[in-house]
Amino acid sequence: MSSDGPTLNDDSYASARAGGGPTHGHTHSHGGGPAHSHPLTAGQESHARGRRSADPEHDHQATRGHDFDLPDLPDAVDVFDTTLRDGSQQEGLSLTVDDKLRVAEQLDHLGVTFIEGGWPGANPKDVEFFARAPKELDLTRATLVAFGSTRRAGVRAEDDETLRHLVEAQTPAVCIVAKSSEMHVVDALRTTLDEAVAMVADSVAFLRANDLRVFLDAEHFFDGYRANPEFTMRILQAAEEAGAETLVLCDTNGGTLPYEVERIVTTVLDRFETQVGVHFHNDSGCAVANSLAGVSVGATHVQGCVNGYGERAGNADLAAVVPDLSLKLRVSTIPADRLPLLTPVAHHISELVNIAPNPQQPFVGASVFAHKAGLHTSAIARRSDAYEHVPPTSVGNGTRFVVSEMAGRSTLAMKAEELGLELDSDAMTSVLDSLKRLEYQGYHFEVADGSLELLLRDSTGWRQPFFELESYRVIADQGEDLSTEATVKLRVDGERVVATAEGNGPVNALDGALRAAIGESYPALVGVHLVDYRVRVLDSAKGTGSVTRVLIDSTDGDRTWTTIGVSENIIAASWQALSDSVVYGLLHAVGSGA
Ligand SMILES: [Zn+2]
Repeated sequence: MSSDGPTLNDDSYASARAGGGPTHGHTHSHGGGPAHSHPLTAGQESHARGRRSADPEHDHQATRGHDFDLPDLPDAVDVFDTTLRDGSQQEGLSLTVDDKLRVAEQLDHLGVTFIEGGWPGANPKDVEFFARAPKELDLTRATLVAFGSTRRAGVRAEDDETLRHLVEAQTPAVCIVAKSSEMHVVDALRTTLDEAVAMVADSVAFLRANDLRVFLDAEHFFDGYRANPEFTMRILQAAEEAGAETLVLCDTNGGTLPYEVERIVTTVLDRFETQVGVHFHNDSGCAVANSLAGVSVGATHVQGCVNGYGERAGNADLAAVVPDLSLKLRVSTIPADRLPLLTPVAHHISELVNIAPNPQQPFVGASVFAHKAGLHTSAIARRSDAYEHVPPTSVGNGTRFVVSEMAGRSTLAMKAEELGLELDSDAMTSVLDSLKRLEYQGYHFEVADGSLELLLRDSTGWRQPFFELESYRVIADQGEDLSTEATVKLRVDGERVVATAEGNGPVNALDGALRAAIGESYPALVGVHLVDYRVRVLDSAKGTGSVTRVLIDSTDGDRTWTTIGVSENIIAASWQALSDSVVYGLLHAVGSGA
């Protein structure tokens, strides 16, 4: 092994630790290998300033803006999103090249430092992505990274196909995975530890010689460290000496716990000059905690996925890591003024990957600042921090009051205020009575914010002005195919309108007929779409006979809302939910409400 790499006693090491490290924009080297000309990232500058200040005069608390008992906490970290590579390993998640480009745009908009775009050469889709990215992606802040692996055992780096694909991807930076656990080298790669080290050294050197910035993902690092720490250190040393920019310690099986992370990351940082990153999977439910643990002892590069996508239990959820670091530990991540984009971007990405957002996802979930119980909501009306750990608007989310039959007057009053409605005492009483009666019949307003708003408006004497139903009819016809036809008869602006439409089911046909009848009068309806339709048959325990509850989710691209219908007849329940959906959509599109 070469002996010219930095050691603990090197001057370069000492000066970097003392804050005399390379400054922004200057040519610098991360280890050995050719010098870099890219500007240092915020995380790298923070790393170069050193974990603990060597200068006793240096006042950490003043410059770092935090006063925690974490002496190694950095000022800044680089946020590395791998939704398009590791996140795409999630069961059921499949992105087209167009989807991938849109996700990358959202991540750049949010302000992450690095976007890992995929594995060029592993599949044609990722080859196409990297071919189109330079022309179609206008990244304002993020650096695009291509992913691959070290050369194969027994092959020269120059002859290795994976490495060639990485160079051809023409990204400024690449991330290569290296096996750093003895067990995986011996059992999976079936090669020697010396060859595994040489694979890292050769591959990093080859990529550096091609003028690429190189991140090394040390796979199974934490498990490997527990079994054979010396070998894992040799892997990192080889990467550092060959000029890797960042040594990323990966918990590939996701089984490591935060206290082990602190210990192992500290050991690595004490031994190497190069920036250290962390990459956690959530199999123990600790991916976010582990990321914070790694940063708390000095890691300055954090990998994960917005919304925590990934195989098995997923990757570290950056939608939690980022606000935890920024808002709680005062470590700079994405630009501070972009933090309120977190919720909209997380939701936009979940739409692009076509996985419904989890309402209980910390920081960005629809339910995580929703308050239900009466006592609780009256307390929060007095002091918003009584039951909220951060101001919801700081991450682009909002406080919501959930109204159900258990609601007290104060909950209802706050809901009305949220909607900009004034309810007098009589209206309040009438709404509370209606809520109790309707919920007894099987309505569930907690999950139907759209219908709840219409109910509250009705109690103020408001009547929807868009159309008046005379009748509707649905016919299902089993001919060669099963077809459904719906006819609606309405009055719009005093005129009687009759319209008929076909559909693949009763809701679809009714929706078509309603749109045909009023679409000309209300062009805004074009922007309103039904996105989900759920039916549940409720048991007859309440003595009202078996009833059907229909929930419809709709969107106008900007907001989404849910409406409800309940009836013994599924068509009647569907019509109610559909009609509420359209009324709500028009109300907010034309602003002709209250
Ligand atoms: Zn991973």
